[in-house]
Amino acid sequence: MEDCRIVMKPHGFPSGRGARVGPDFSLKSQIPGLKIREFMVYVPGGSDKSAIMNKEREIRGRFAPSPTGPLHLGNAMTFLVAWLSVRSRGGRIVMRIEDIEGHGRDPAVIEGNCRDLLRLGLEWDEGYRAGGPHGPYRQSERAELYRRALDRLLEQELVYPCVCSRRDARQAGAAPHAGDCRMYDGRCRGRFADYAEAARALAGSGRLPAWRFRVPDREVVFRDRLCGGQRVNPALTYGDFPIARHPDGIGYQLAVVTDDIDMRITEVVRGGDLLECTPWQILLYRALAPEFPLPEFCHLPVVTGADGKRLAKRTGSLTLESLFERGVRPGTVLGLLAFWGGWAEFGEELTLPELLDRFDLSALRGRKPCLDGAALRLLGAE
Ligand code: GLU
Repeated sequence: MEDCRIVMKPHGFPSGRGARVGPDFSLKSQIPGLKIREFMVYVPGGSDKSAIMNKEREIRGRFAPSPTGPLHLGNAMTFLVAWLSVRSRGGRIVMRIEDIEGHGRDPAVIEGNCRDLLRLGLEWDEGYRAGGPHGPYRQSERAELYRRALDRLLEQELVYPCVCSRRDARQAGAAPHAGDCRMYDGRCRGRFADYAEAARALAGSGRLPAWRFRVPDREVVFRDRLCGGQRVNPALTYGDFPIARHPDGIGYQLAVVTDDIDMRITEVVRGGDLLECTPWQILLYRALAPEFPLPEFCHLPVVTGADGKRLAKRTGSLTLESLFERGVRPGTVLGLLAFWGGWAEFGEELTLPELLDRFDLSALRGRKPCLDGAALRLLGAE
């Protein structure tokens, strides 16, 4: 039998309001062997967004592309596994466009990313273009939520403005933490009365202060579906981390957690390079919505080129767009991704329903997907 977790007070309800347990609950809890993974209790008078009715928690995953360029095969692998994981559990997929950082606002790139996913058959139920109750679904249109989240952190005195550049921050730690030059020593803790004062200190530099999260000296423990148990004390591995370099808190770390809470995301599937930010994000979850059940995390092996380096948009990795333009069939691409995942022989062509039948997340564990010469030849790209 799986865990039965009961959440008595959905996020957003003032403390002390109380929760009423409905008849369904007692019924379910009396059936021996019934599998209940998560159970939210309806609190009368709550808004639709906050209260999930008296039923098992719906599985909700997300696609979260940063539209900084056309999608490559590494991106495709992430979206495929996110899709398979949600669909194999009967859940819903939300499409959220993460267009707040860098130059990710070109509508043509966003459209291109969506088109590529749809060509592979990777559709979504809610979000960008599809609509839904948790919109808008472009981060560039959600600034108000990030500001509110930042205010919650400020109320708890969990963040402070910091004028250190990324380089200063790295150097700051070099001496006291020899061997870990990424450590930040917290030198801006308590240094400025507010953001405006920090901004004045940077006047003329062309830089904006960051908001840094004051990390507690304690371990964050979580289990990743692929990478297993994780136990990290962020105070010893990095120190206070930046959540955004913007007066209103607009930045990846704060936005991703704010949105995953607001959109009721229950599972996060993404590239393994983001595993190391996860303890930070868990601290943000806990600070912003203590009652919100953490999503399940699943960090995927990173797809590399034959040189062992991660595929990246900026290095002009082979794009899905260019493959489709050259007549490569979606089934060939899916077959290669499935081979990387351990669900197909090399060179097989597969449809998504076939792949869904074979999907087994654990087969991915320890694999090293590589766009090597053989893969390039398969795609007619060598
Ligand atoms: N937008 C990020 C990316 O495209 C993904 C962020 C996440 O999944 O948390 O790499």
